[in-house]
Formats: sequence, structure tokens, C-alpha cells
Amino acid sequence: MRIPIIAGNWKMNKTIKEAVAFIEEIKPQIEGTDVEVILCAPFILLKDMKEVSKGSNIKIGAQNMHFEESGAYTGEVSVLNLKEIGMDYVIIGHSERRQYFGETDENVNKKVKKALEYDINPIVCVGETLEERQAEKTRDKVKLQVEKAIEGLTHEQASRIVVAYEPIWAIGTGMAATSSDANEVIEYIRQTLESIYSSETAEKIRVQYGGSVKPQNVEEIMNEPDIDGALVGGASLDPQSFVKLVNF
Ligand code: 13P
Repeated sequence: MRIPIIAGNWKMNKTIKEAVAFIEEIKPQIEGTDVEVILCAPFILLKDMKEVSKGSNIKIGAQNMHFEESGAYTGEVSVLNLKEIGMDYVIIGHSERRQYFGETDENVNKKVKKALEYDINPIVCVGETLEERQAEKTRDKVKLQVEKAIEGLTHEQASRIVVAYEPIWAIGTGMAATSSDANEVIEYIRQTLESIYSSETAEKIRVQYGGSVKPQNVEEIMNEPDIDGALVGGASLDPQSFVKLVNF
């Protein structure tokens, strides 16, 4: 049985003060939920967010990390620091990092391995561009990204990752994939995982959808049989909108 996830990806938004107030506001309103609730925020907010979320069902995640533990990597953040402040999750290979910061499939794989080594669950993002979708290359693209991201992982390690299918054309555009289209690609992702591992392992791996999820479409998306959660950008920034997403 896979536990569904509602995760907010705040991207480069919010101050420490705003993040703390957000968590204090939503805490009592999401107490009864059966879904796993995750907030992924800029590094500098994370320690305070972890502290204020103590005793609640909110888990906290980073949006990136380096694949080395230490060294001459100016401006980067180590998994050791994420571990030190009790991070539960880390987003790896978001399309914005791939597009603007040169994140490669090879780096994604190294980061995934390093996060797992420290018991931080990676949320691995994959997804096609509009051109790739129009050229009917969606499946090839996500298959390749998934295969490369998980290369060399054991069954046990693979079962701890979360995959987020985020079609790039749906991110921040208000143009979500239809729930059935998203489900179809996610079903294909699980088949890919099954062909690499086994149906038993593939059944354990949660696959989320991301791209213009909002309170109005979250229920339809979450009701799809293969979609195990949502990774939400814009609509996760407002506390009451996020509460609606969690309590879909
Ligand atoms: P939006 O929900 O703003 O489309 O962003 C999706 C996303 O990129 C989450 O990681």
C-alpha cells in the first residue's frame, strides 16, 4: 500500500518568518489527514521549518544538494548539513535545475545515491518538454531520465525514492496535464521500474504528478489509480490553498 503524498515545492519563495507563520497556521488544519505532507523550501528556511513542525505530521525537504559531502564547491550545500537539520526529503533534478543550472542525468544519479546513503528520501523529477510531447517522445524521455537517475540502486534503495512526473509545459503555466494523460505516463514509469527491478519493488515506489496542480484539480488527479501524489509549486504558497490540497 503506497501512502499518497502532497508536497509543496516553494521554489525561491518566502522568508523564514513567512515559512514559520505558514506552518503554525496549517498545523491544526491538517492533523487528521492520511496523506504524507511535505514542504520543500530554500535552504536557509529549513532549520526553522523543521523546528516549528515538530510534533506535527509535516515533513520538510530541501530542493537540491551536492553529490559530494564536502570540498571546494562554492555556494553548494552538503547532504551532511541536510542530515544535521533532520531533513526527510530532497528534490533532485527538478526541471528548473536541469534547465537553468546545468543539472545532468549523471549528477542526478550521484545525488540520489548520496541522499539515500544518508537516509534522506529523494524526490526525483522527470518530464518532457512541449516539443518532445508534440513529437510523441514523452515515453522515451521519461524512461531515459528514470533509468539514469536510478542506475546502480539496489531494490531496497529504489523502494525509498519518490518519482515526480512533471511535464515541463505544465509547470507554472496553469495548463495541467489531464489526469488520465498524467496517469498513463505514470503507469509507464512504473512499468519501466518493474522492468528494471520487479513488480514487488515497483509497487513500492511512489510516483507523483506535478504541473499546475491546484485545489480545483487535485482530487481528480489523486483519484487516478497510478498517481500517488502531487508536487505543487504555485498553489502551495498560500497556506489555505495548501490546506485544501492536503484535505482534497
Ligand atoms: P506549479 O505547480 O507552479 O506548476 O509548479 C510545479 C512544480 O514545478 C513543482 O515542483
